[in-house]
Amino acid sequence: MKTFRTTTRNLKHFPCVSSRPWWLKFCVALPLATALASTAACAKGSSPGATASAASTSGSPATPVAPPEPAPTAPDNSPLPHIDAKRAFEYTREVAAFGPRYMGNENHKKLERYILDHLKGDEVEDDAFTADTVEGKFPVRNIIAKFPGTKDGIIAILGHYDTNYPLRNIGYVGANDGGSSTAILLEFANQLRSASAGKKRDGYSVWLVWTDGEEAVRSWSDTDSLYGTRHLAEKWEKDGTLKKIKALMVMDMIAPIDLAILRDTNSTPWLLDLIYAAAERGGYQSHFYVLQTPMEDDHLPFVKRGVPSADVIDMPYGYNDVFHHTALDTMDKLSPKSLQIVGDTILETVHMLDQR
Ligand SMILES: [Zn+2]
Repeated sequence: MKTFRTTTRNLKHFPCVSSRPWWLKFCVALPLATALASTAACAKGSSPGATASAASTSGSPATPVAPPEPAPTAPDNSPLPHIDAKRAFEYTREVAAFGPRYMGNENHKKLERYILDHLKGDEVEDDAFTADTVEGKFPVRNIIAKFPGTKDGIIAILGHYDTNYPLRNIGYVGANDGGSSTAILLEFANQLRSASAGKKRDGYSVWLVWTDGEEAVRSWSDTDSLYGTRHLAEKWEKDGTLKKIKALMVMDMIAPIDLAILRDTNSTPWLLDLIYAAAERGGYQSHFYVLQTPMEDDHLPFVKRGVPSADVIDMPYGYNDVFHHTALDTMDKLSPKSLQIVGDTILETVHMLDQR
């Protein structure tokens, strides 16, 4: 994920109120009043020395916003789902241990095999192609695991497994960025597999997609980013899959110890609200939506095509975002508890979608 602009629901939590705003490192400065009242536009460079892109002054004023109203539905007494967060945390550790995993390198190939080994017996499909980029051609491979359901329609859950080509020589392992998203999808596969026990699940089909080429190969832009999902969205538009998708959720950077999931204003509001309602059922809502901002991530190619989509992402990552896209993105910044919160909430969201 890259572009990071912030408005907030609660100025007490607004990083810009500190004496040395973290975003000054990355942002084109706006007049102070505008910055505080509307947006700070930040281009997240894919390497520590990356330059900022042009600022936009568009955006809504930062006004305190009340949490979403609880959905007026009958009480749901079904048991809350619980992922095995310890196992998901171990997956994260194993994925990070592969080292830099940019498109097509040896570590990336090892990770592809690692993912496929965990999906033995599941219905798996590849979306593989060659991306023509400003740094040359790269092989890209989205991996899709399908868990069929009795209802007509698909819930898609996406998470990227690549790391950044420009960070390949700095010891970058992307434990959170790339690692946690890969791991939580593997754990979702475990949960879906054991719940369905070889039969169709009682609800929509769930497709898990390990996306590739999410990161920029040089510097984040519309054409240098989201290689995998731009290809997949186009393919699914042509073959009619997009029309069947009831909801699409992207997992990205979801394991930091001090978990705070953003409310992404590029996402579909009703789906964000449903995720919040699911978090409330688990008592996890304090980890959701203190900050709100538009995010650019793997959901965008689907948002642009009208698919209800949500980006589930924690930003900034560490004070002043210092762990993001740096060699500091390591396991010691992460917690199994955060994977528990996100994992349980998303599985509960799937359950709530099934009831709709
Ligand atoms: Zn990233």
